Amino acid sequence: RSKSAGRSTWMEFDETMAAELEHRQGLETELRSAVAAREIEPWYQPIISTQSDRIVGVEALARWQHAERGLLLPGLFIPLAEESSLIVELGQAMIDRCCQEMYPLIREGRLDYVSVNLSTRHLRSPSVVEQIAATLASHRFPPSALQLEITESLLLIDFEQAEERLSQFRALGIRIALDDFGAGYSSLSYIRRLPLDVIKIDRSFARDISSDGQAEAVVKAIVQLAQALNLGIIAEGIETESQALRLTSCGCFVQQGYLFGRPMPLRETKQYLEAGLNPMHTTQRKP
Ligand code: C2E
Ligand code: MG
Ligand code: MG
Ligand code: MG
Repeated sequence: RSKSAGRSTWMEFDETMAAELEHRQGLETELRSAVAAREIEPWYQPIISTQSDRIVGVEALARWQHAERGLLLPGLFIPLAEESSLIVELGQAMIDRCCQEMYPLIREGRLDYVSVNLSTRHLRSPSVVEQIAATLASHRFPPSALQLEITESLLLIDFEQAEERLSQFRALGIRIALDDFGAGYSSLSYIRRLPLDVIKIDRSFARDISSDGQAEAVVKAIVQLAQALNLGIIAEGIETESQALRLTSCGCFVQQGYLFGRPMPLRETKQYLEAGLNPMHTTQRKP
């Protein structure tokens, strides 16, 4: 390989990197103003109980209504927001809006709670507990109707601090769910040591449970463990009736997935909740 070829490769690489950086900076600027302009909005996905056939709650999932690029999914902008304190503003705006939008529905008894994802970086920010408490108070939102979902990936870095913050949330009455359990680097020590209320079983288990007896055995073990530790369980990513039935037979009654409903904007969420729909139930009752 000649020297000049090497150099031109480097220059191209440089240019690509510069373009990439410019693109990212552009996107970050756009995201910053989108957060400020409240263009990041929660969509809601139902969480149902196969035992009572009720909608028990919803998970709020961030969506960015971008003027030119259309609807953007969180995979595109949450990691970017997490690179700076923008994730704190975004997370705070999400909680504020969820409280505002879900309060009337919770008061009417259409659902018990809204579950919001909390980034580890947000959990680390100094006044997170006070800020969330103030948001709840400003909406007179009952703390027990808020669930915060955390992921375990970065909790180990300062375990004591994470543990303390989570305890403070729980002392306020807020529920804590451990998201995506069983995926990646999950460690059993987390669920023993962290102050938790609920474990959300990663959707890879729902995916594998119809074809793979081992996945079923692991789900049963997780359910037993949760029962022993007095934790609730939510199974994620249920797409078919057979997955729903198998998870139910494993003792996993609270479920979330496309089978019951995709994440949807507020208007549709209200219609869904008013109908009190559980699609499995309606299918079964069809003549
Ligand atoms: P997550 O918290 O684990 O949320 C569940 C994801 O699975 C959502 O993707 C949801 O649309 C998707 N999903 C639900 N049911 C099914 C199903 O039956 N099949 C399949 N294949 N997927 C299903 P989404 O909305 O793209 O969000 C991706 C991730 O982005 C979330 O994963 C969460 O970690 C993060 N995220 C979303 N909104 C927020 C937010 O407001 N704040 C923070 N910090 N993170 C968020
Ligand atoms: Mg989640
Ligand atoms: Mg997650
Ligand atoms: Mg999840």
